[in-house]
Amino acid sequence: MYTVSRKRKAEVQVGCPFAKRKDVGIQCSESRGSYGRNEESTIDQLREKYLWSKDHALYWLKEEGLIASRRVCDVCQSSMNWVECDDRSDGFVWQCRKQIGKKRHRVEKSIREGSWFEKSNFSIEEVIKFTYWWCQGLDQWQIKQQLGLGSHTAVDWDMFCRELCEVTIFEKRERLGGPGKVVQIDESKIGKRKYHRRHVVEGQWVFGGIEQDSRKCFIVTVEDRTEATLVSHIQEWVEQGTTIVSDCWKGYVNLEKYGYEHKTVNHSVEFVSPEGYDTNKIEGHWRQMKVSLPTHRRKKEHALLFISC
Ligand SMILES: [Zn+2]
Repeated sequence: MYTVSRKRKAEVQVGCPFAKRKDVGIQCSESRGSYGRNEESTIDQLREKYLWSKDHALYWLKEEGLIASRRVCDVCQSSMNWVECDDRSDGFVWQCRKQIGKKRHRVEKSIREGSWFEKSNFSIEEVIKFTYWWCQGLDQWQIKQQLGLGSHTAVDWDMFCRELCEVTIFEKRERLGGPGKVVQIDESKIGKRKYHRRHVVEGQWVFGGIEQDSRKCFIVTVEDRTEATLVSHIQEWVEQGTTIVSDCWKGYVNLEKYGYEHKTVNHSVEFVSPEGYDTNKIEGHWRQMKVSLPTHRRKKEHALLFISC
């Protein structure tokens, strides 16, 4: 399958919303995409370099593997031809008109088949623009305005992009830490405080860790903060022998029994432990995550798809 490379400033391993993967976390790494913010690429540059003509844009997509550069005919198993076609909105189609014996067959395939562009009513250029702006961090409303889309279409594509990121990140997940490495862990709650209900905080607990040097991280949603819950996720995500830094939450007191080095920071009296350990990175991660999480999407059922940084 040909998929668009999704490039965000950073991608997070988040708990997956799909029922089958409930309570499974996903991973994070800093991406360095060629159209990432690092290179300050703009839509004008994209247009100038790749979208200045339909032919060139399609050539570029083939070069990048975003659409197929070769197709095999289902009837005769030989290579199909890339031919111009006015009947198709894309202007091109894969075609085979070979003769077997005395009989000539005609097989056509969309140039979008099996790609990110498949089954969309958008033009290929619109899909590229939506994807590009989405990767650049424009929100749904901005992209909707730019492309003149209906609300439902913008919502659908936004969710589509998020889900695809999630699947990709899930597939690339890897464990953190190992001997000599330091991983900061922490829990946080996504949601609003309900002051009129005795400060009860509604929302979703999330638990995560970040590797100090690489900034690789994971985030999972958890139903509670018991030792059993937290340790099971630590064992899933963090290699034994890792030095784990946490606050003094009781759920972490037995980490050494599970094969980890454990250092604590007592937040009621210090930000950095006497040995120099802190949990600043993971706390910064939560702040960044909460800022990027739309307030109307902080309900438990929506939170997962929107955890990104
Ligand atoms: Zn054929």
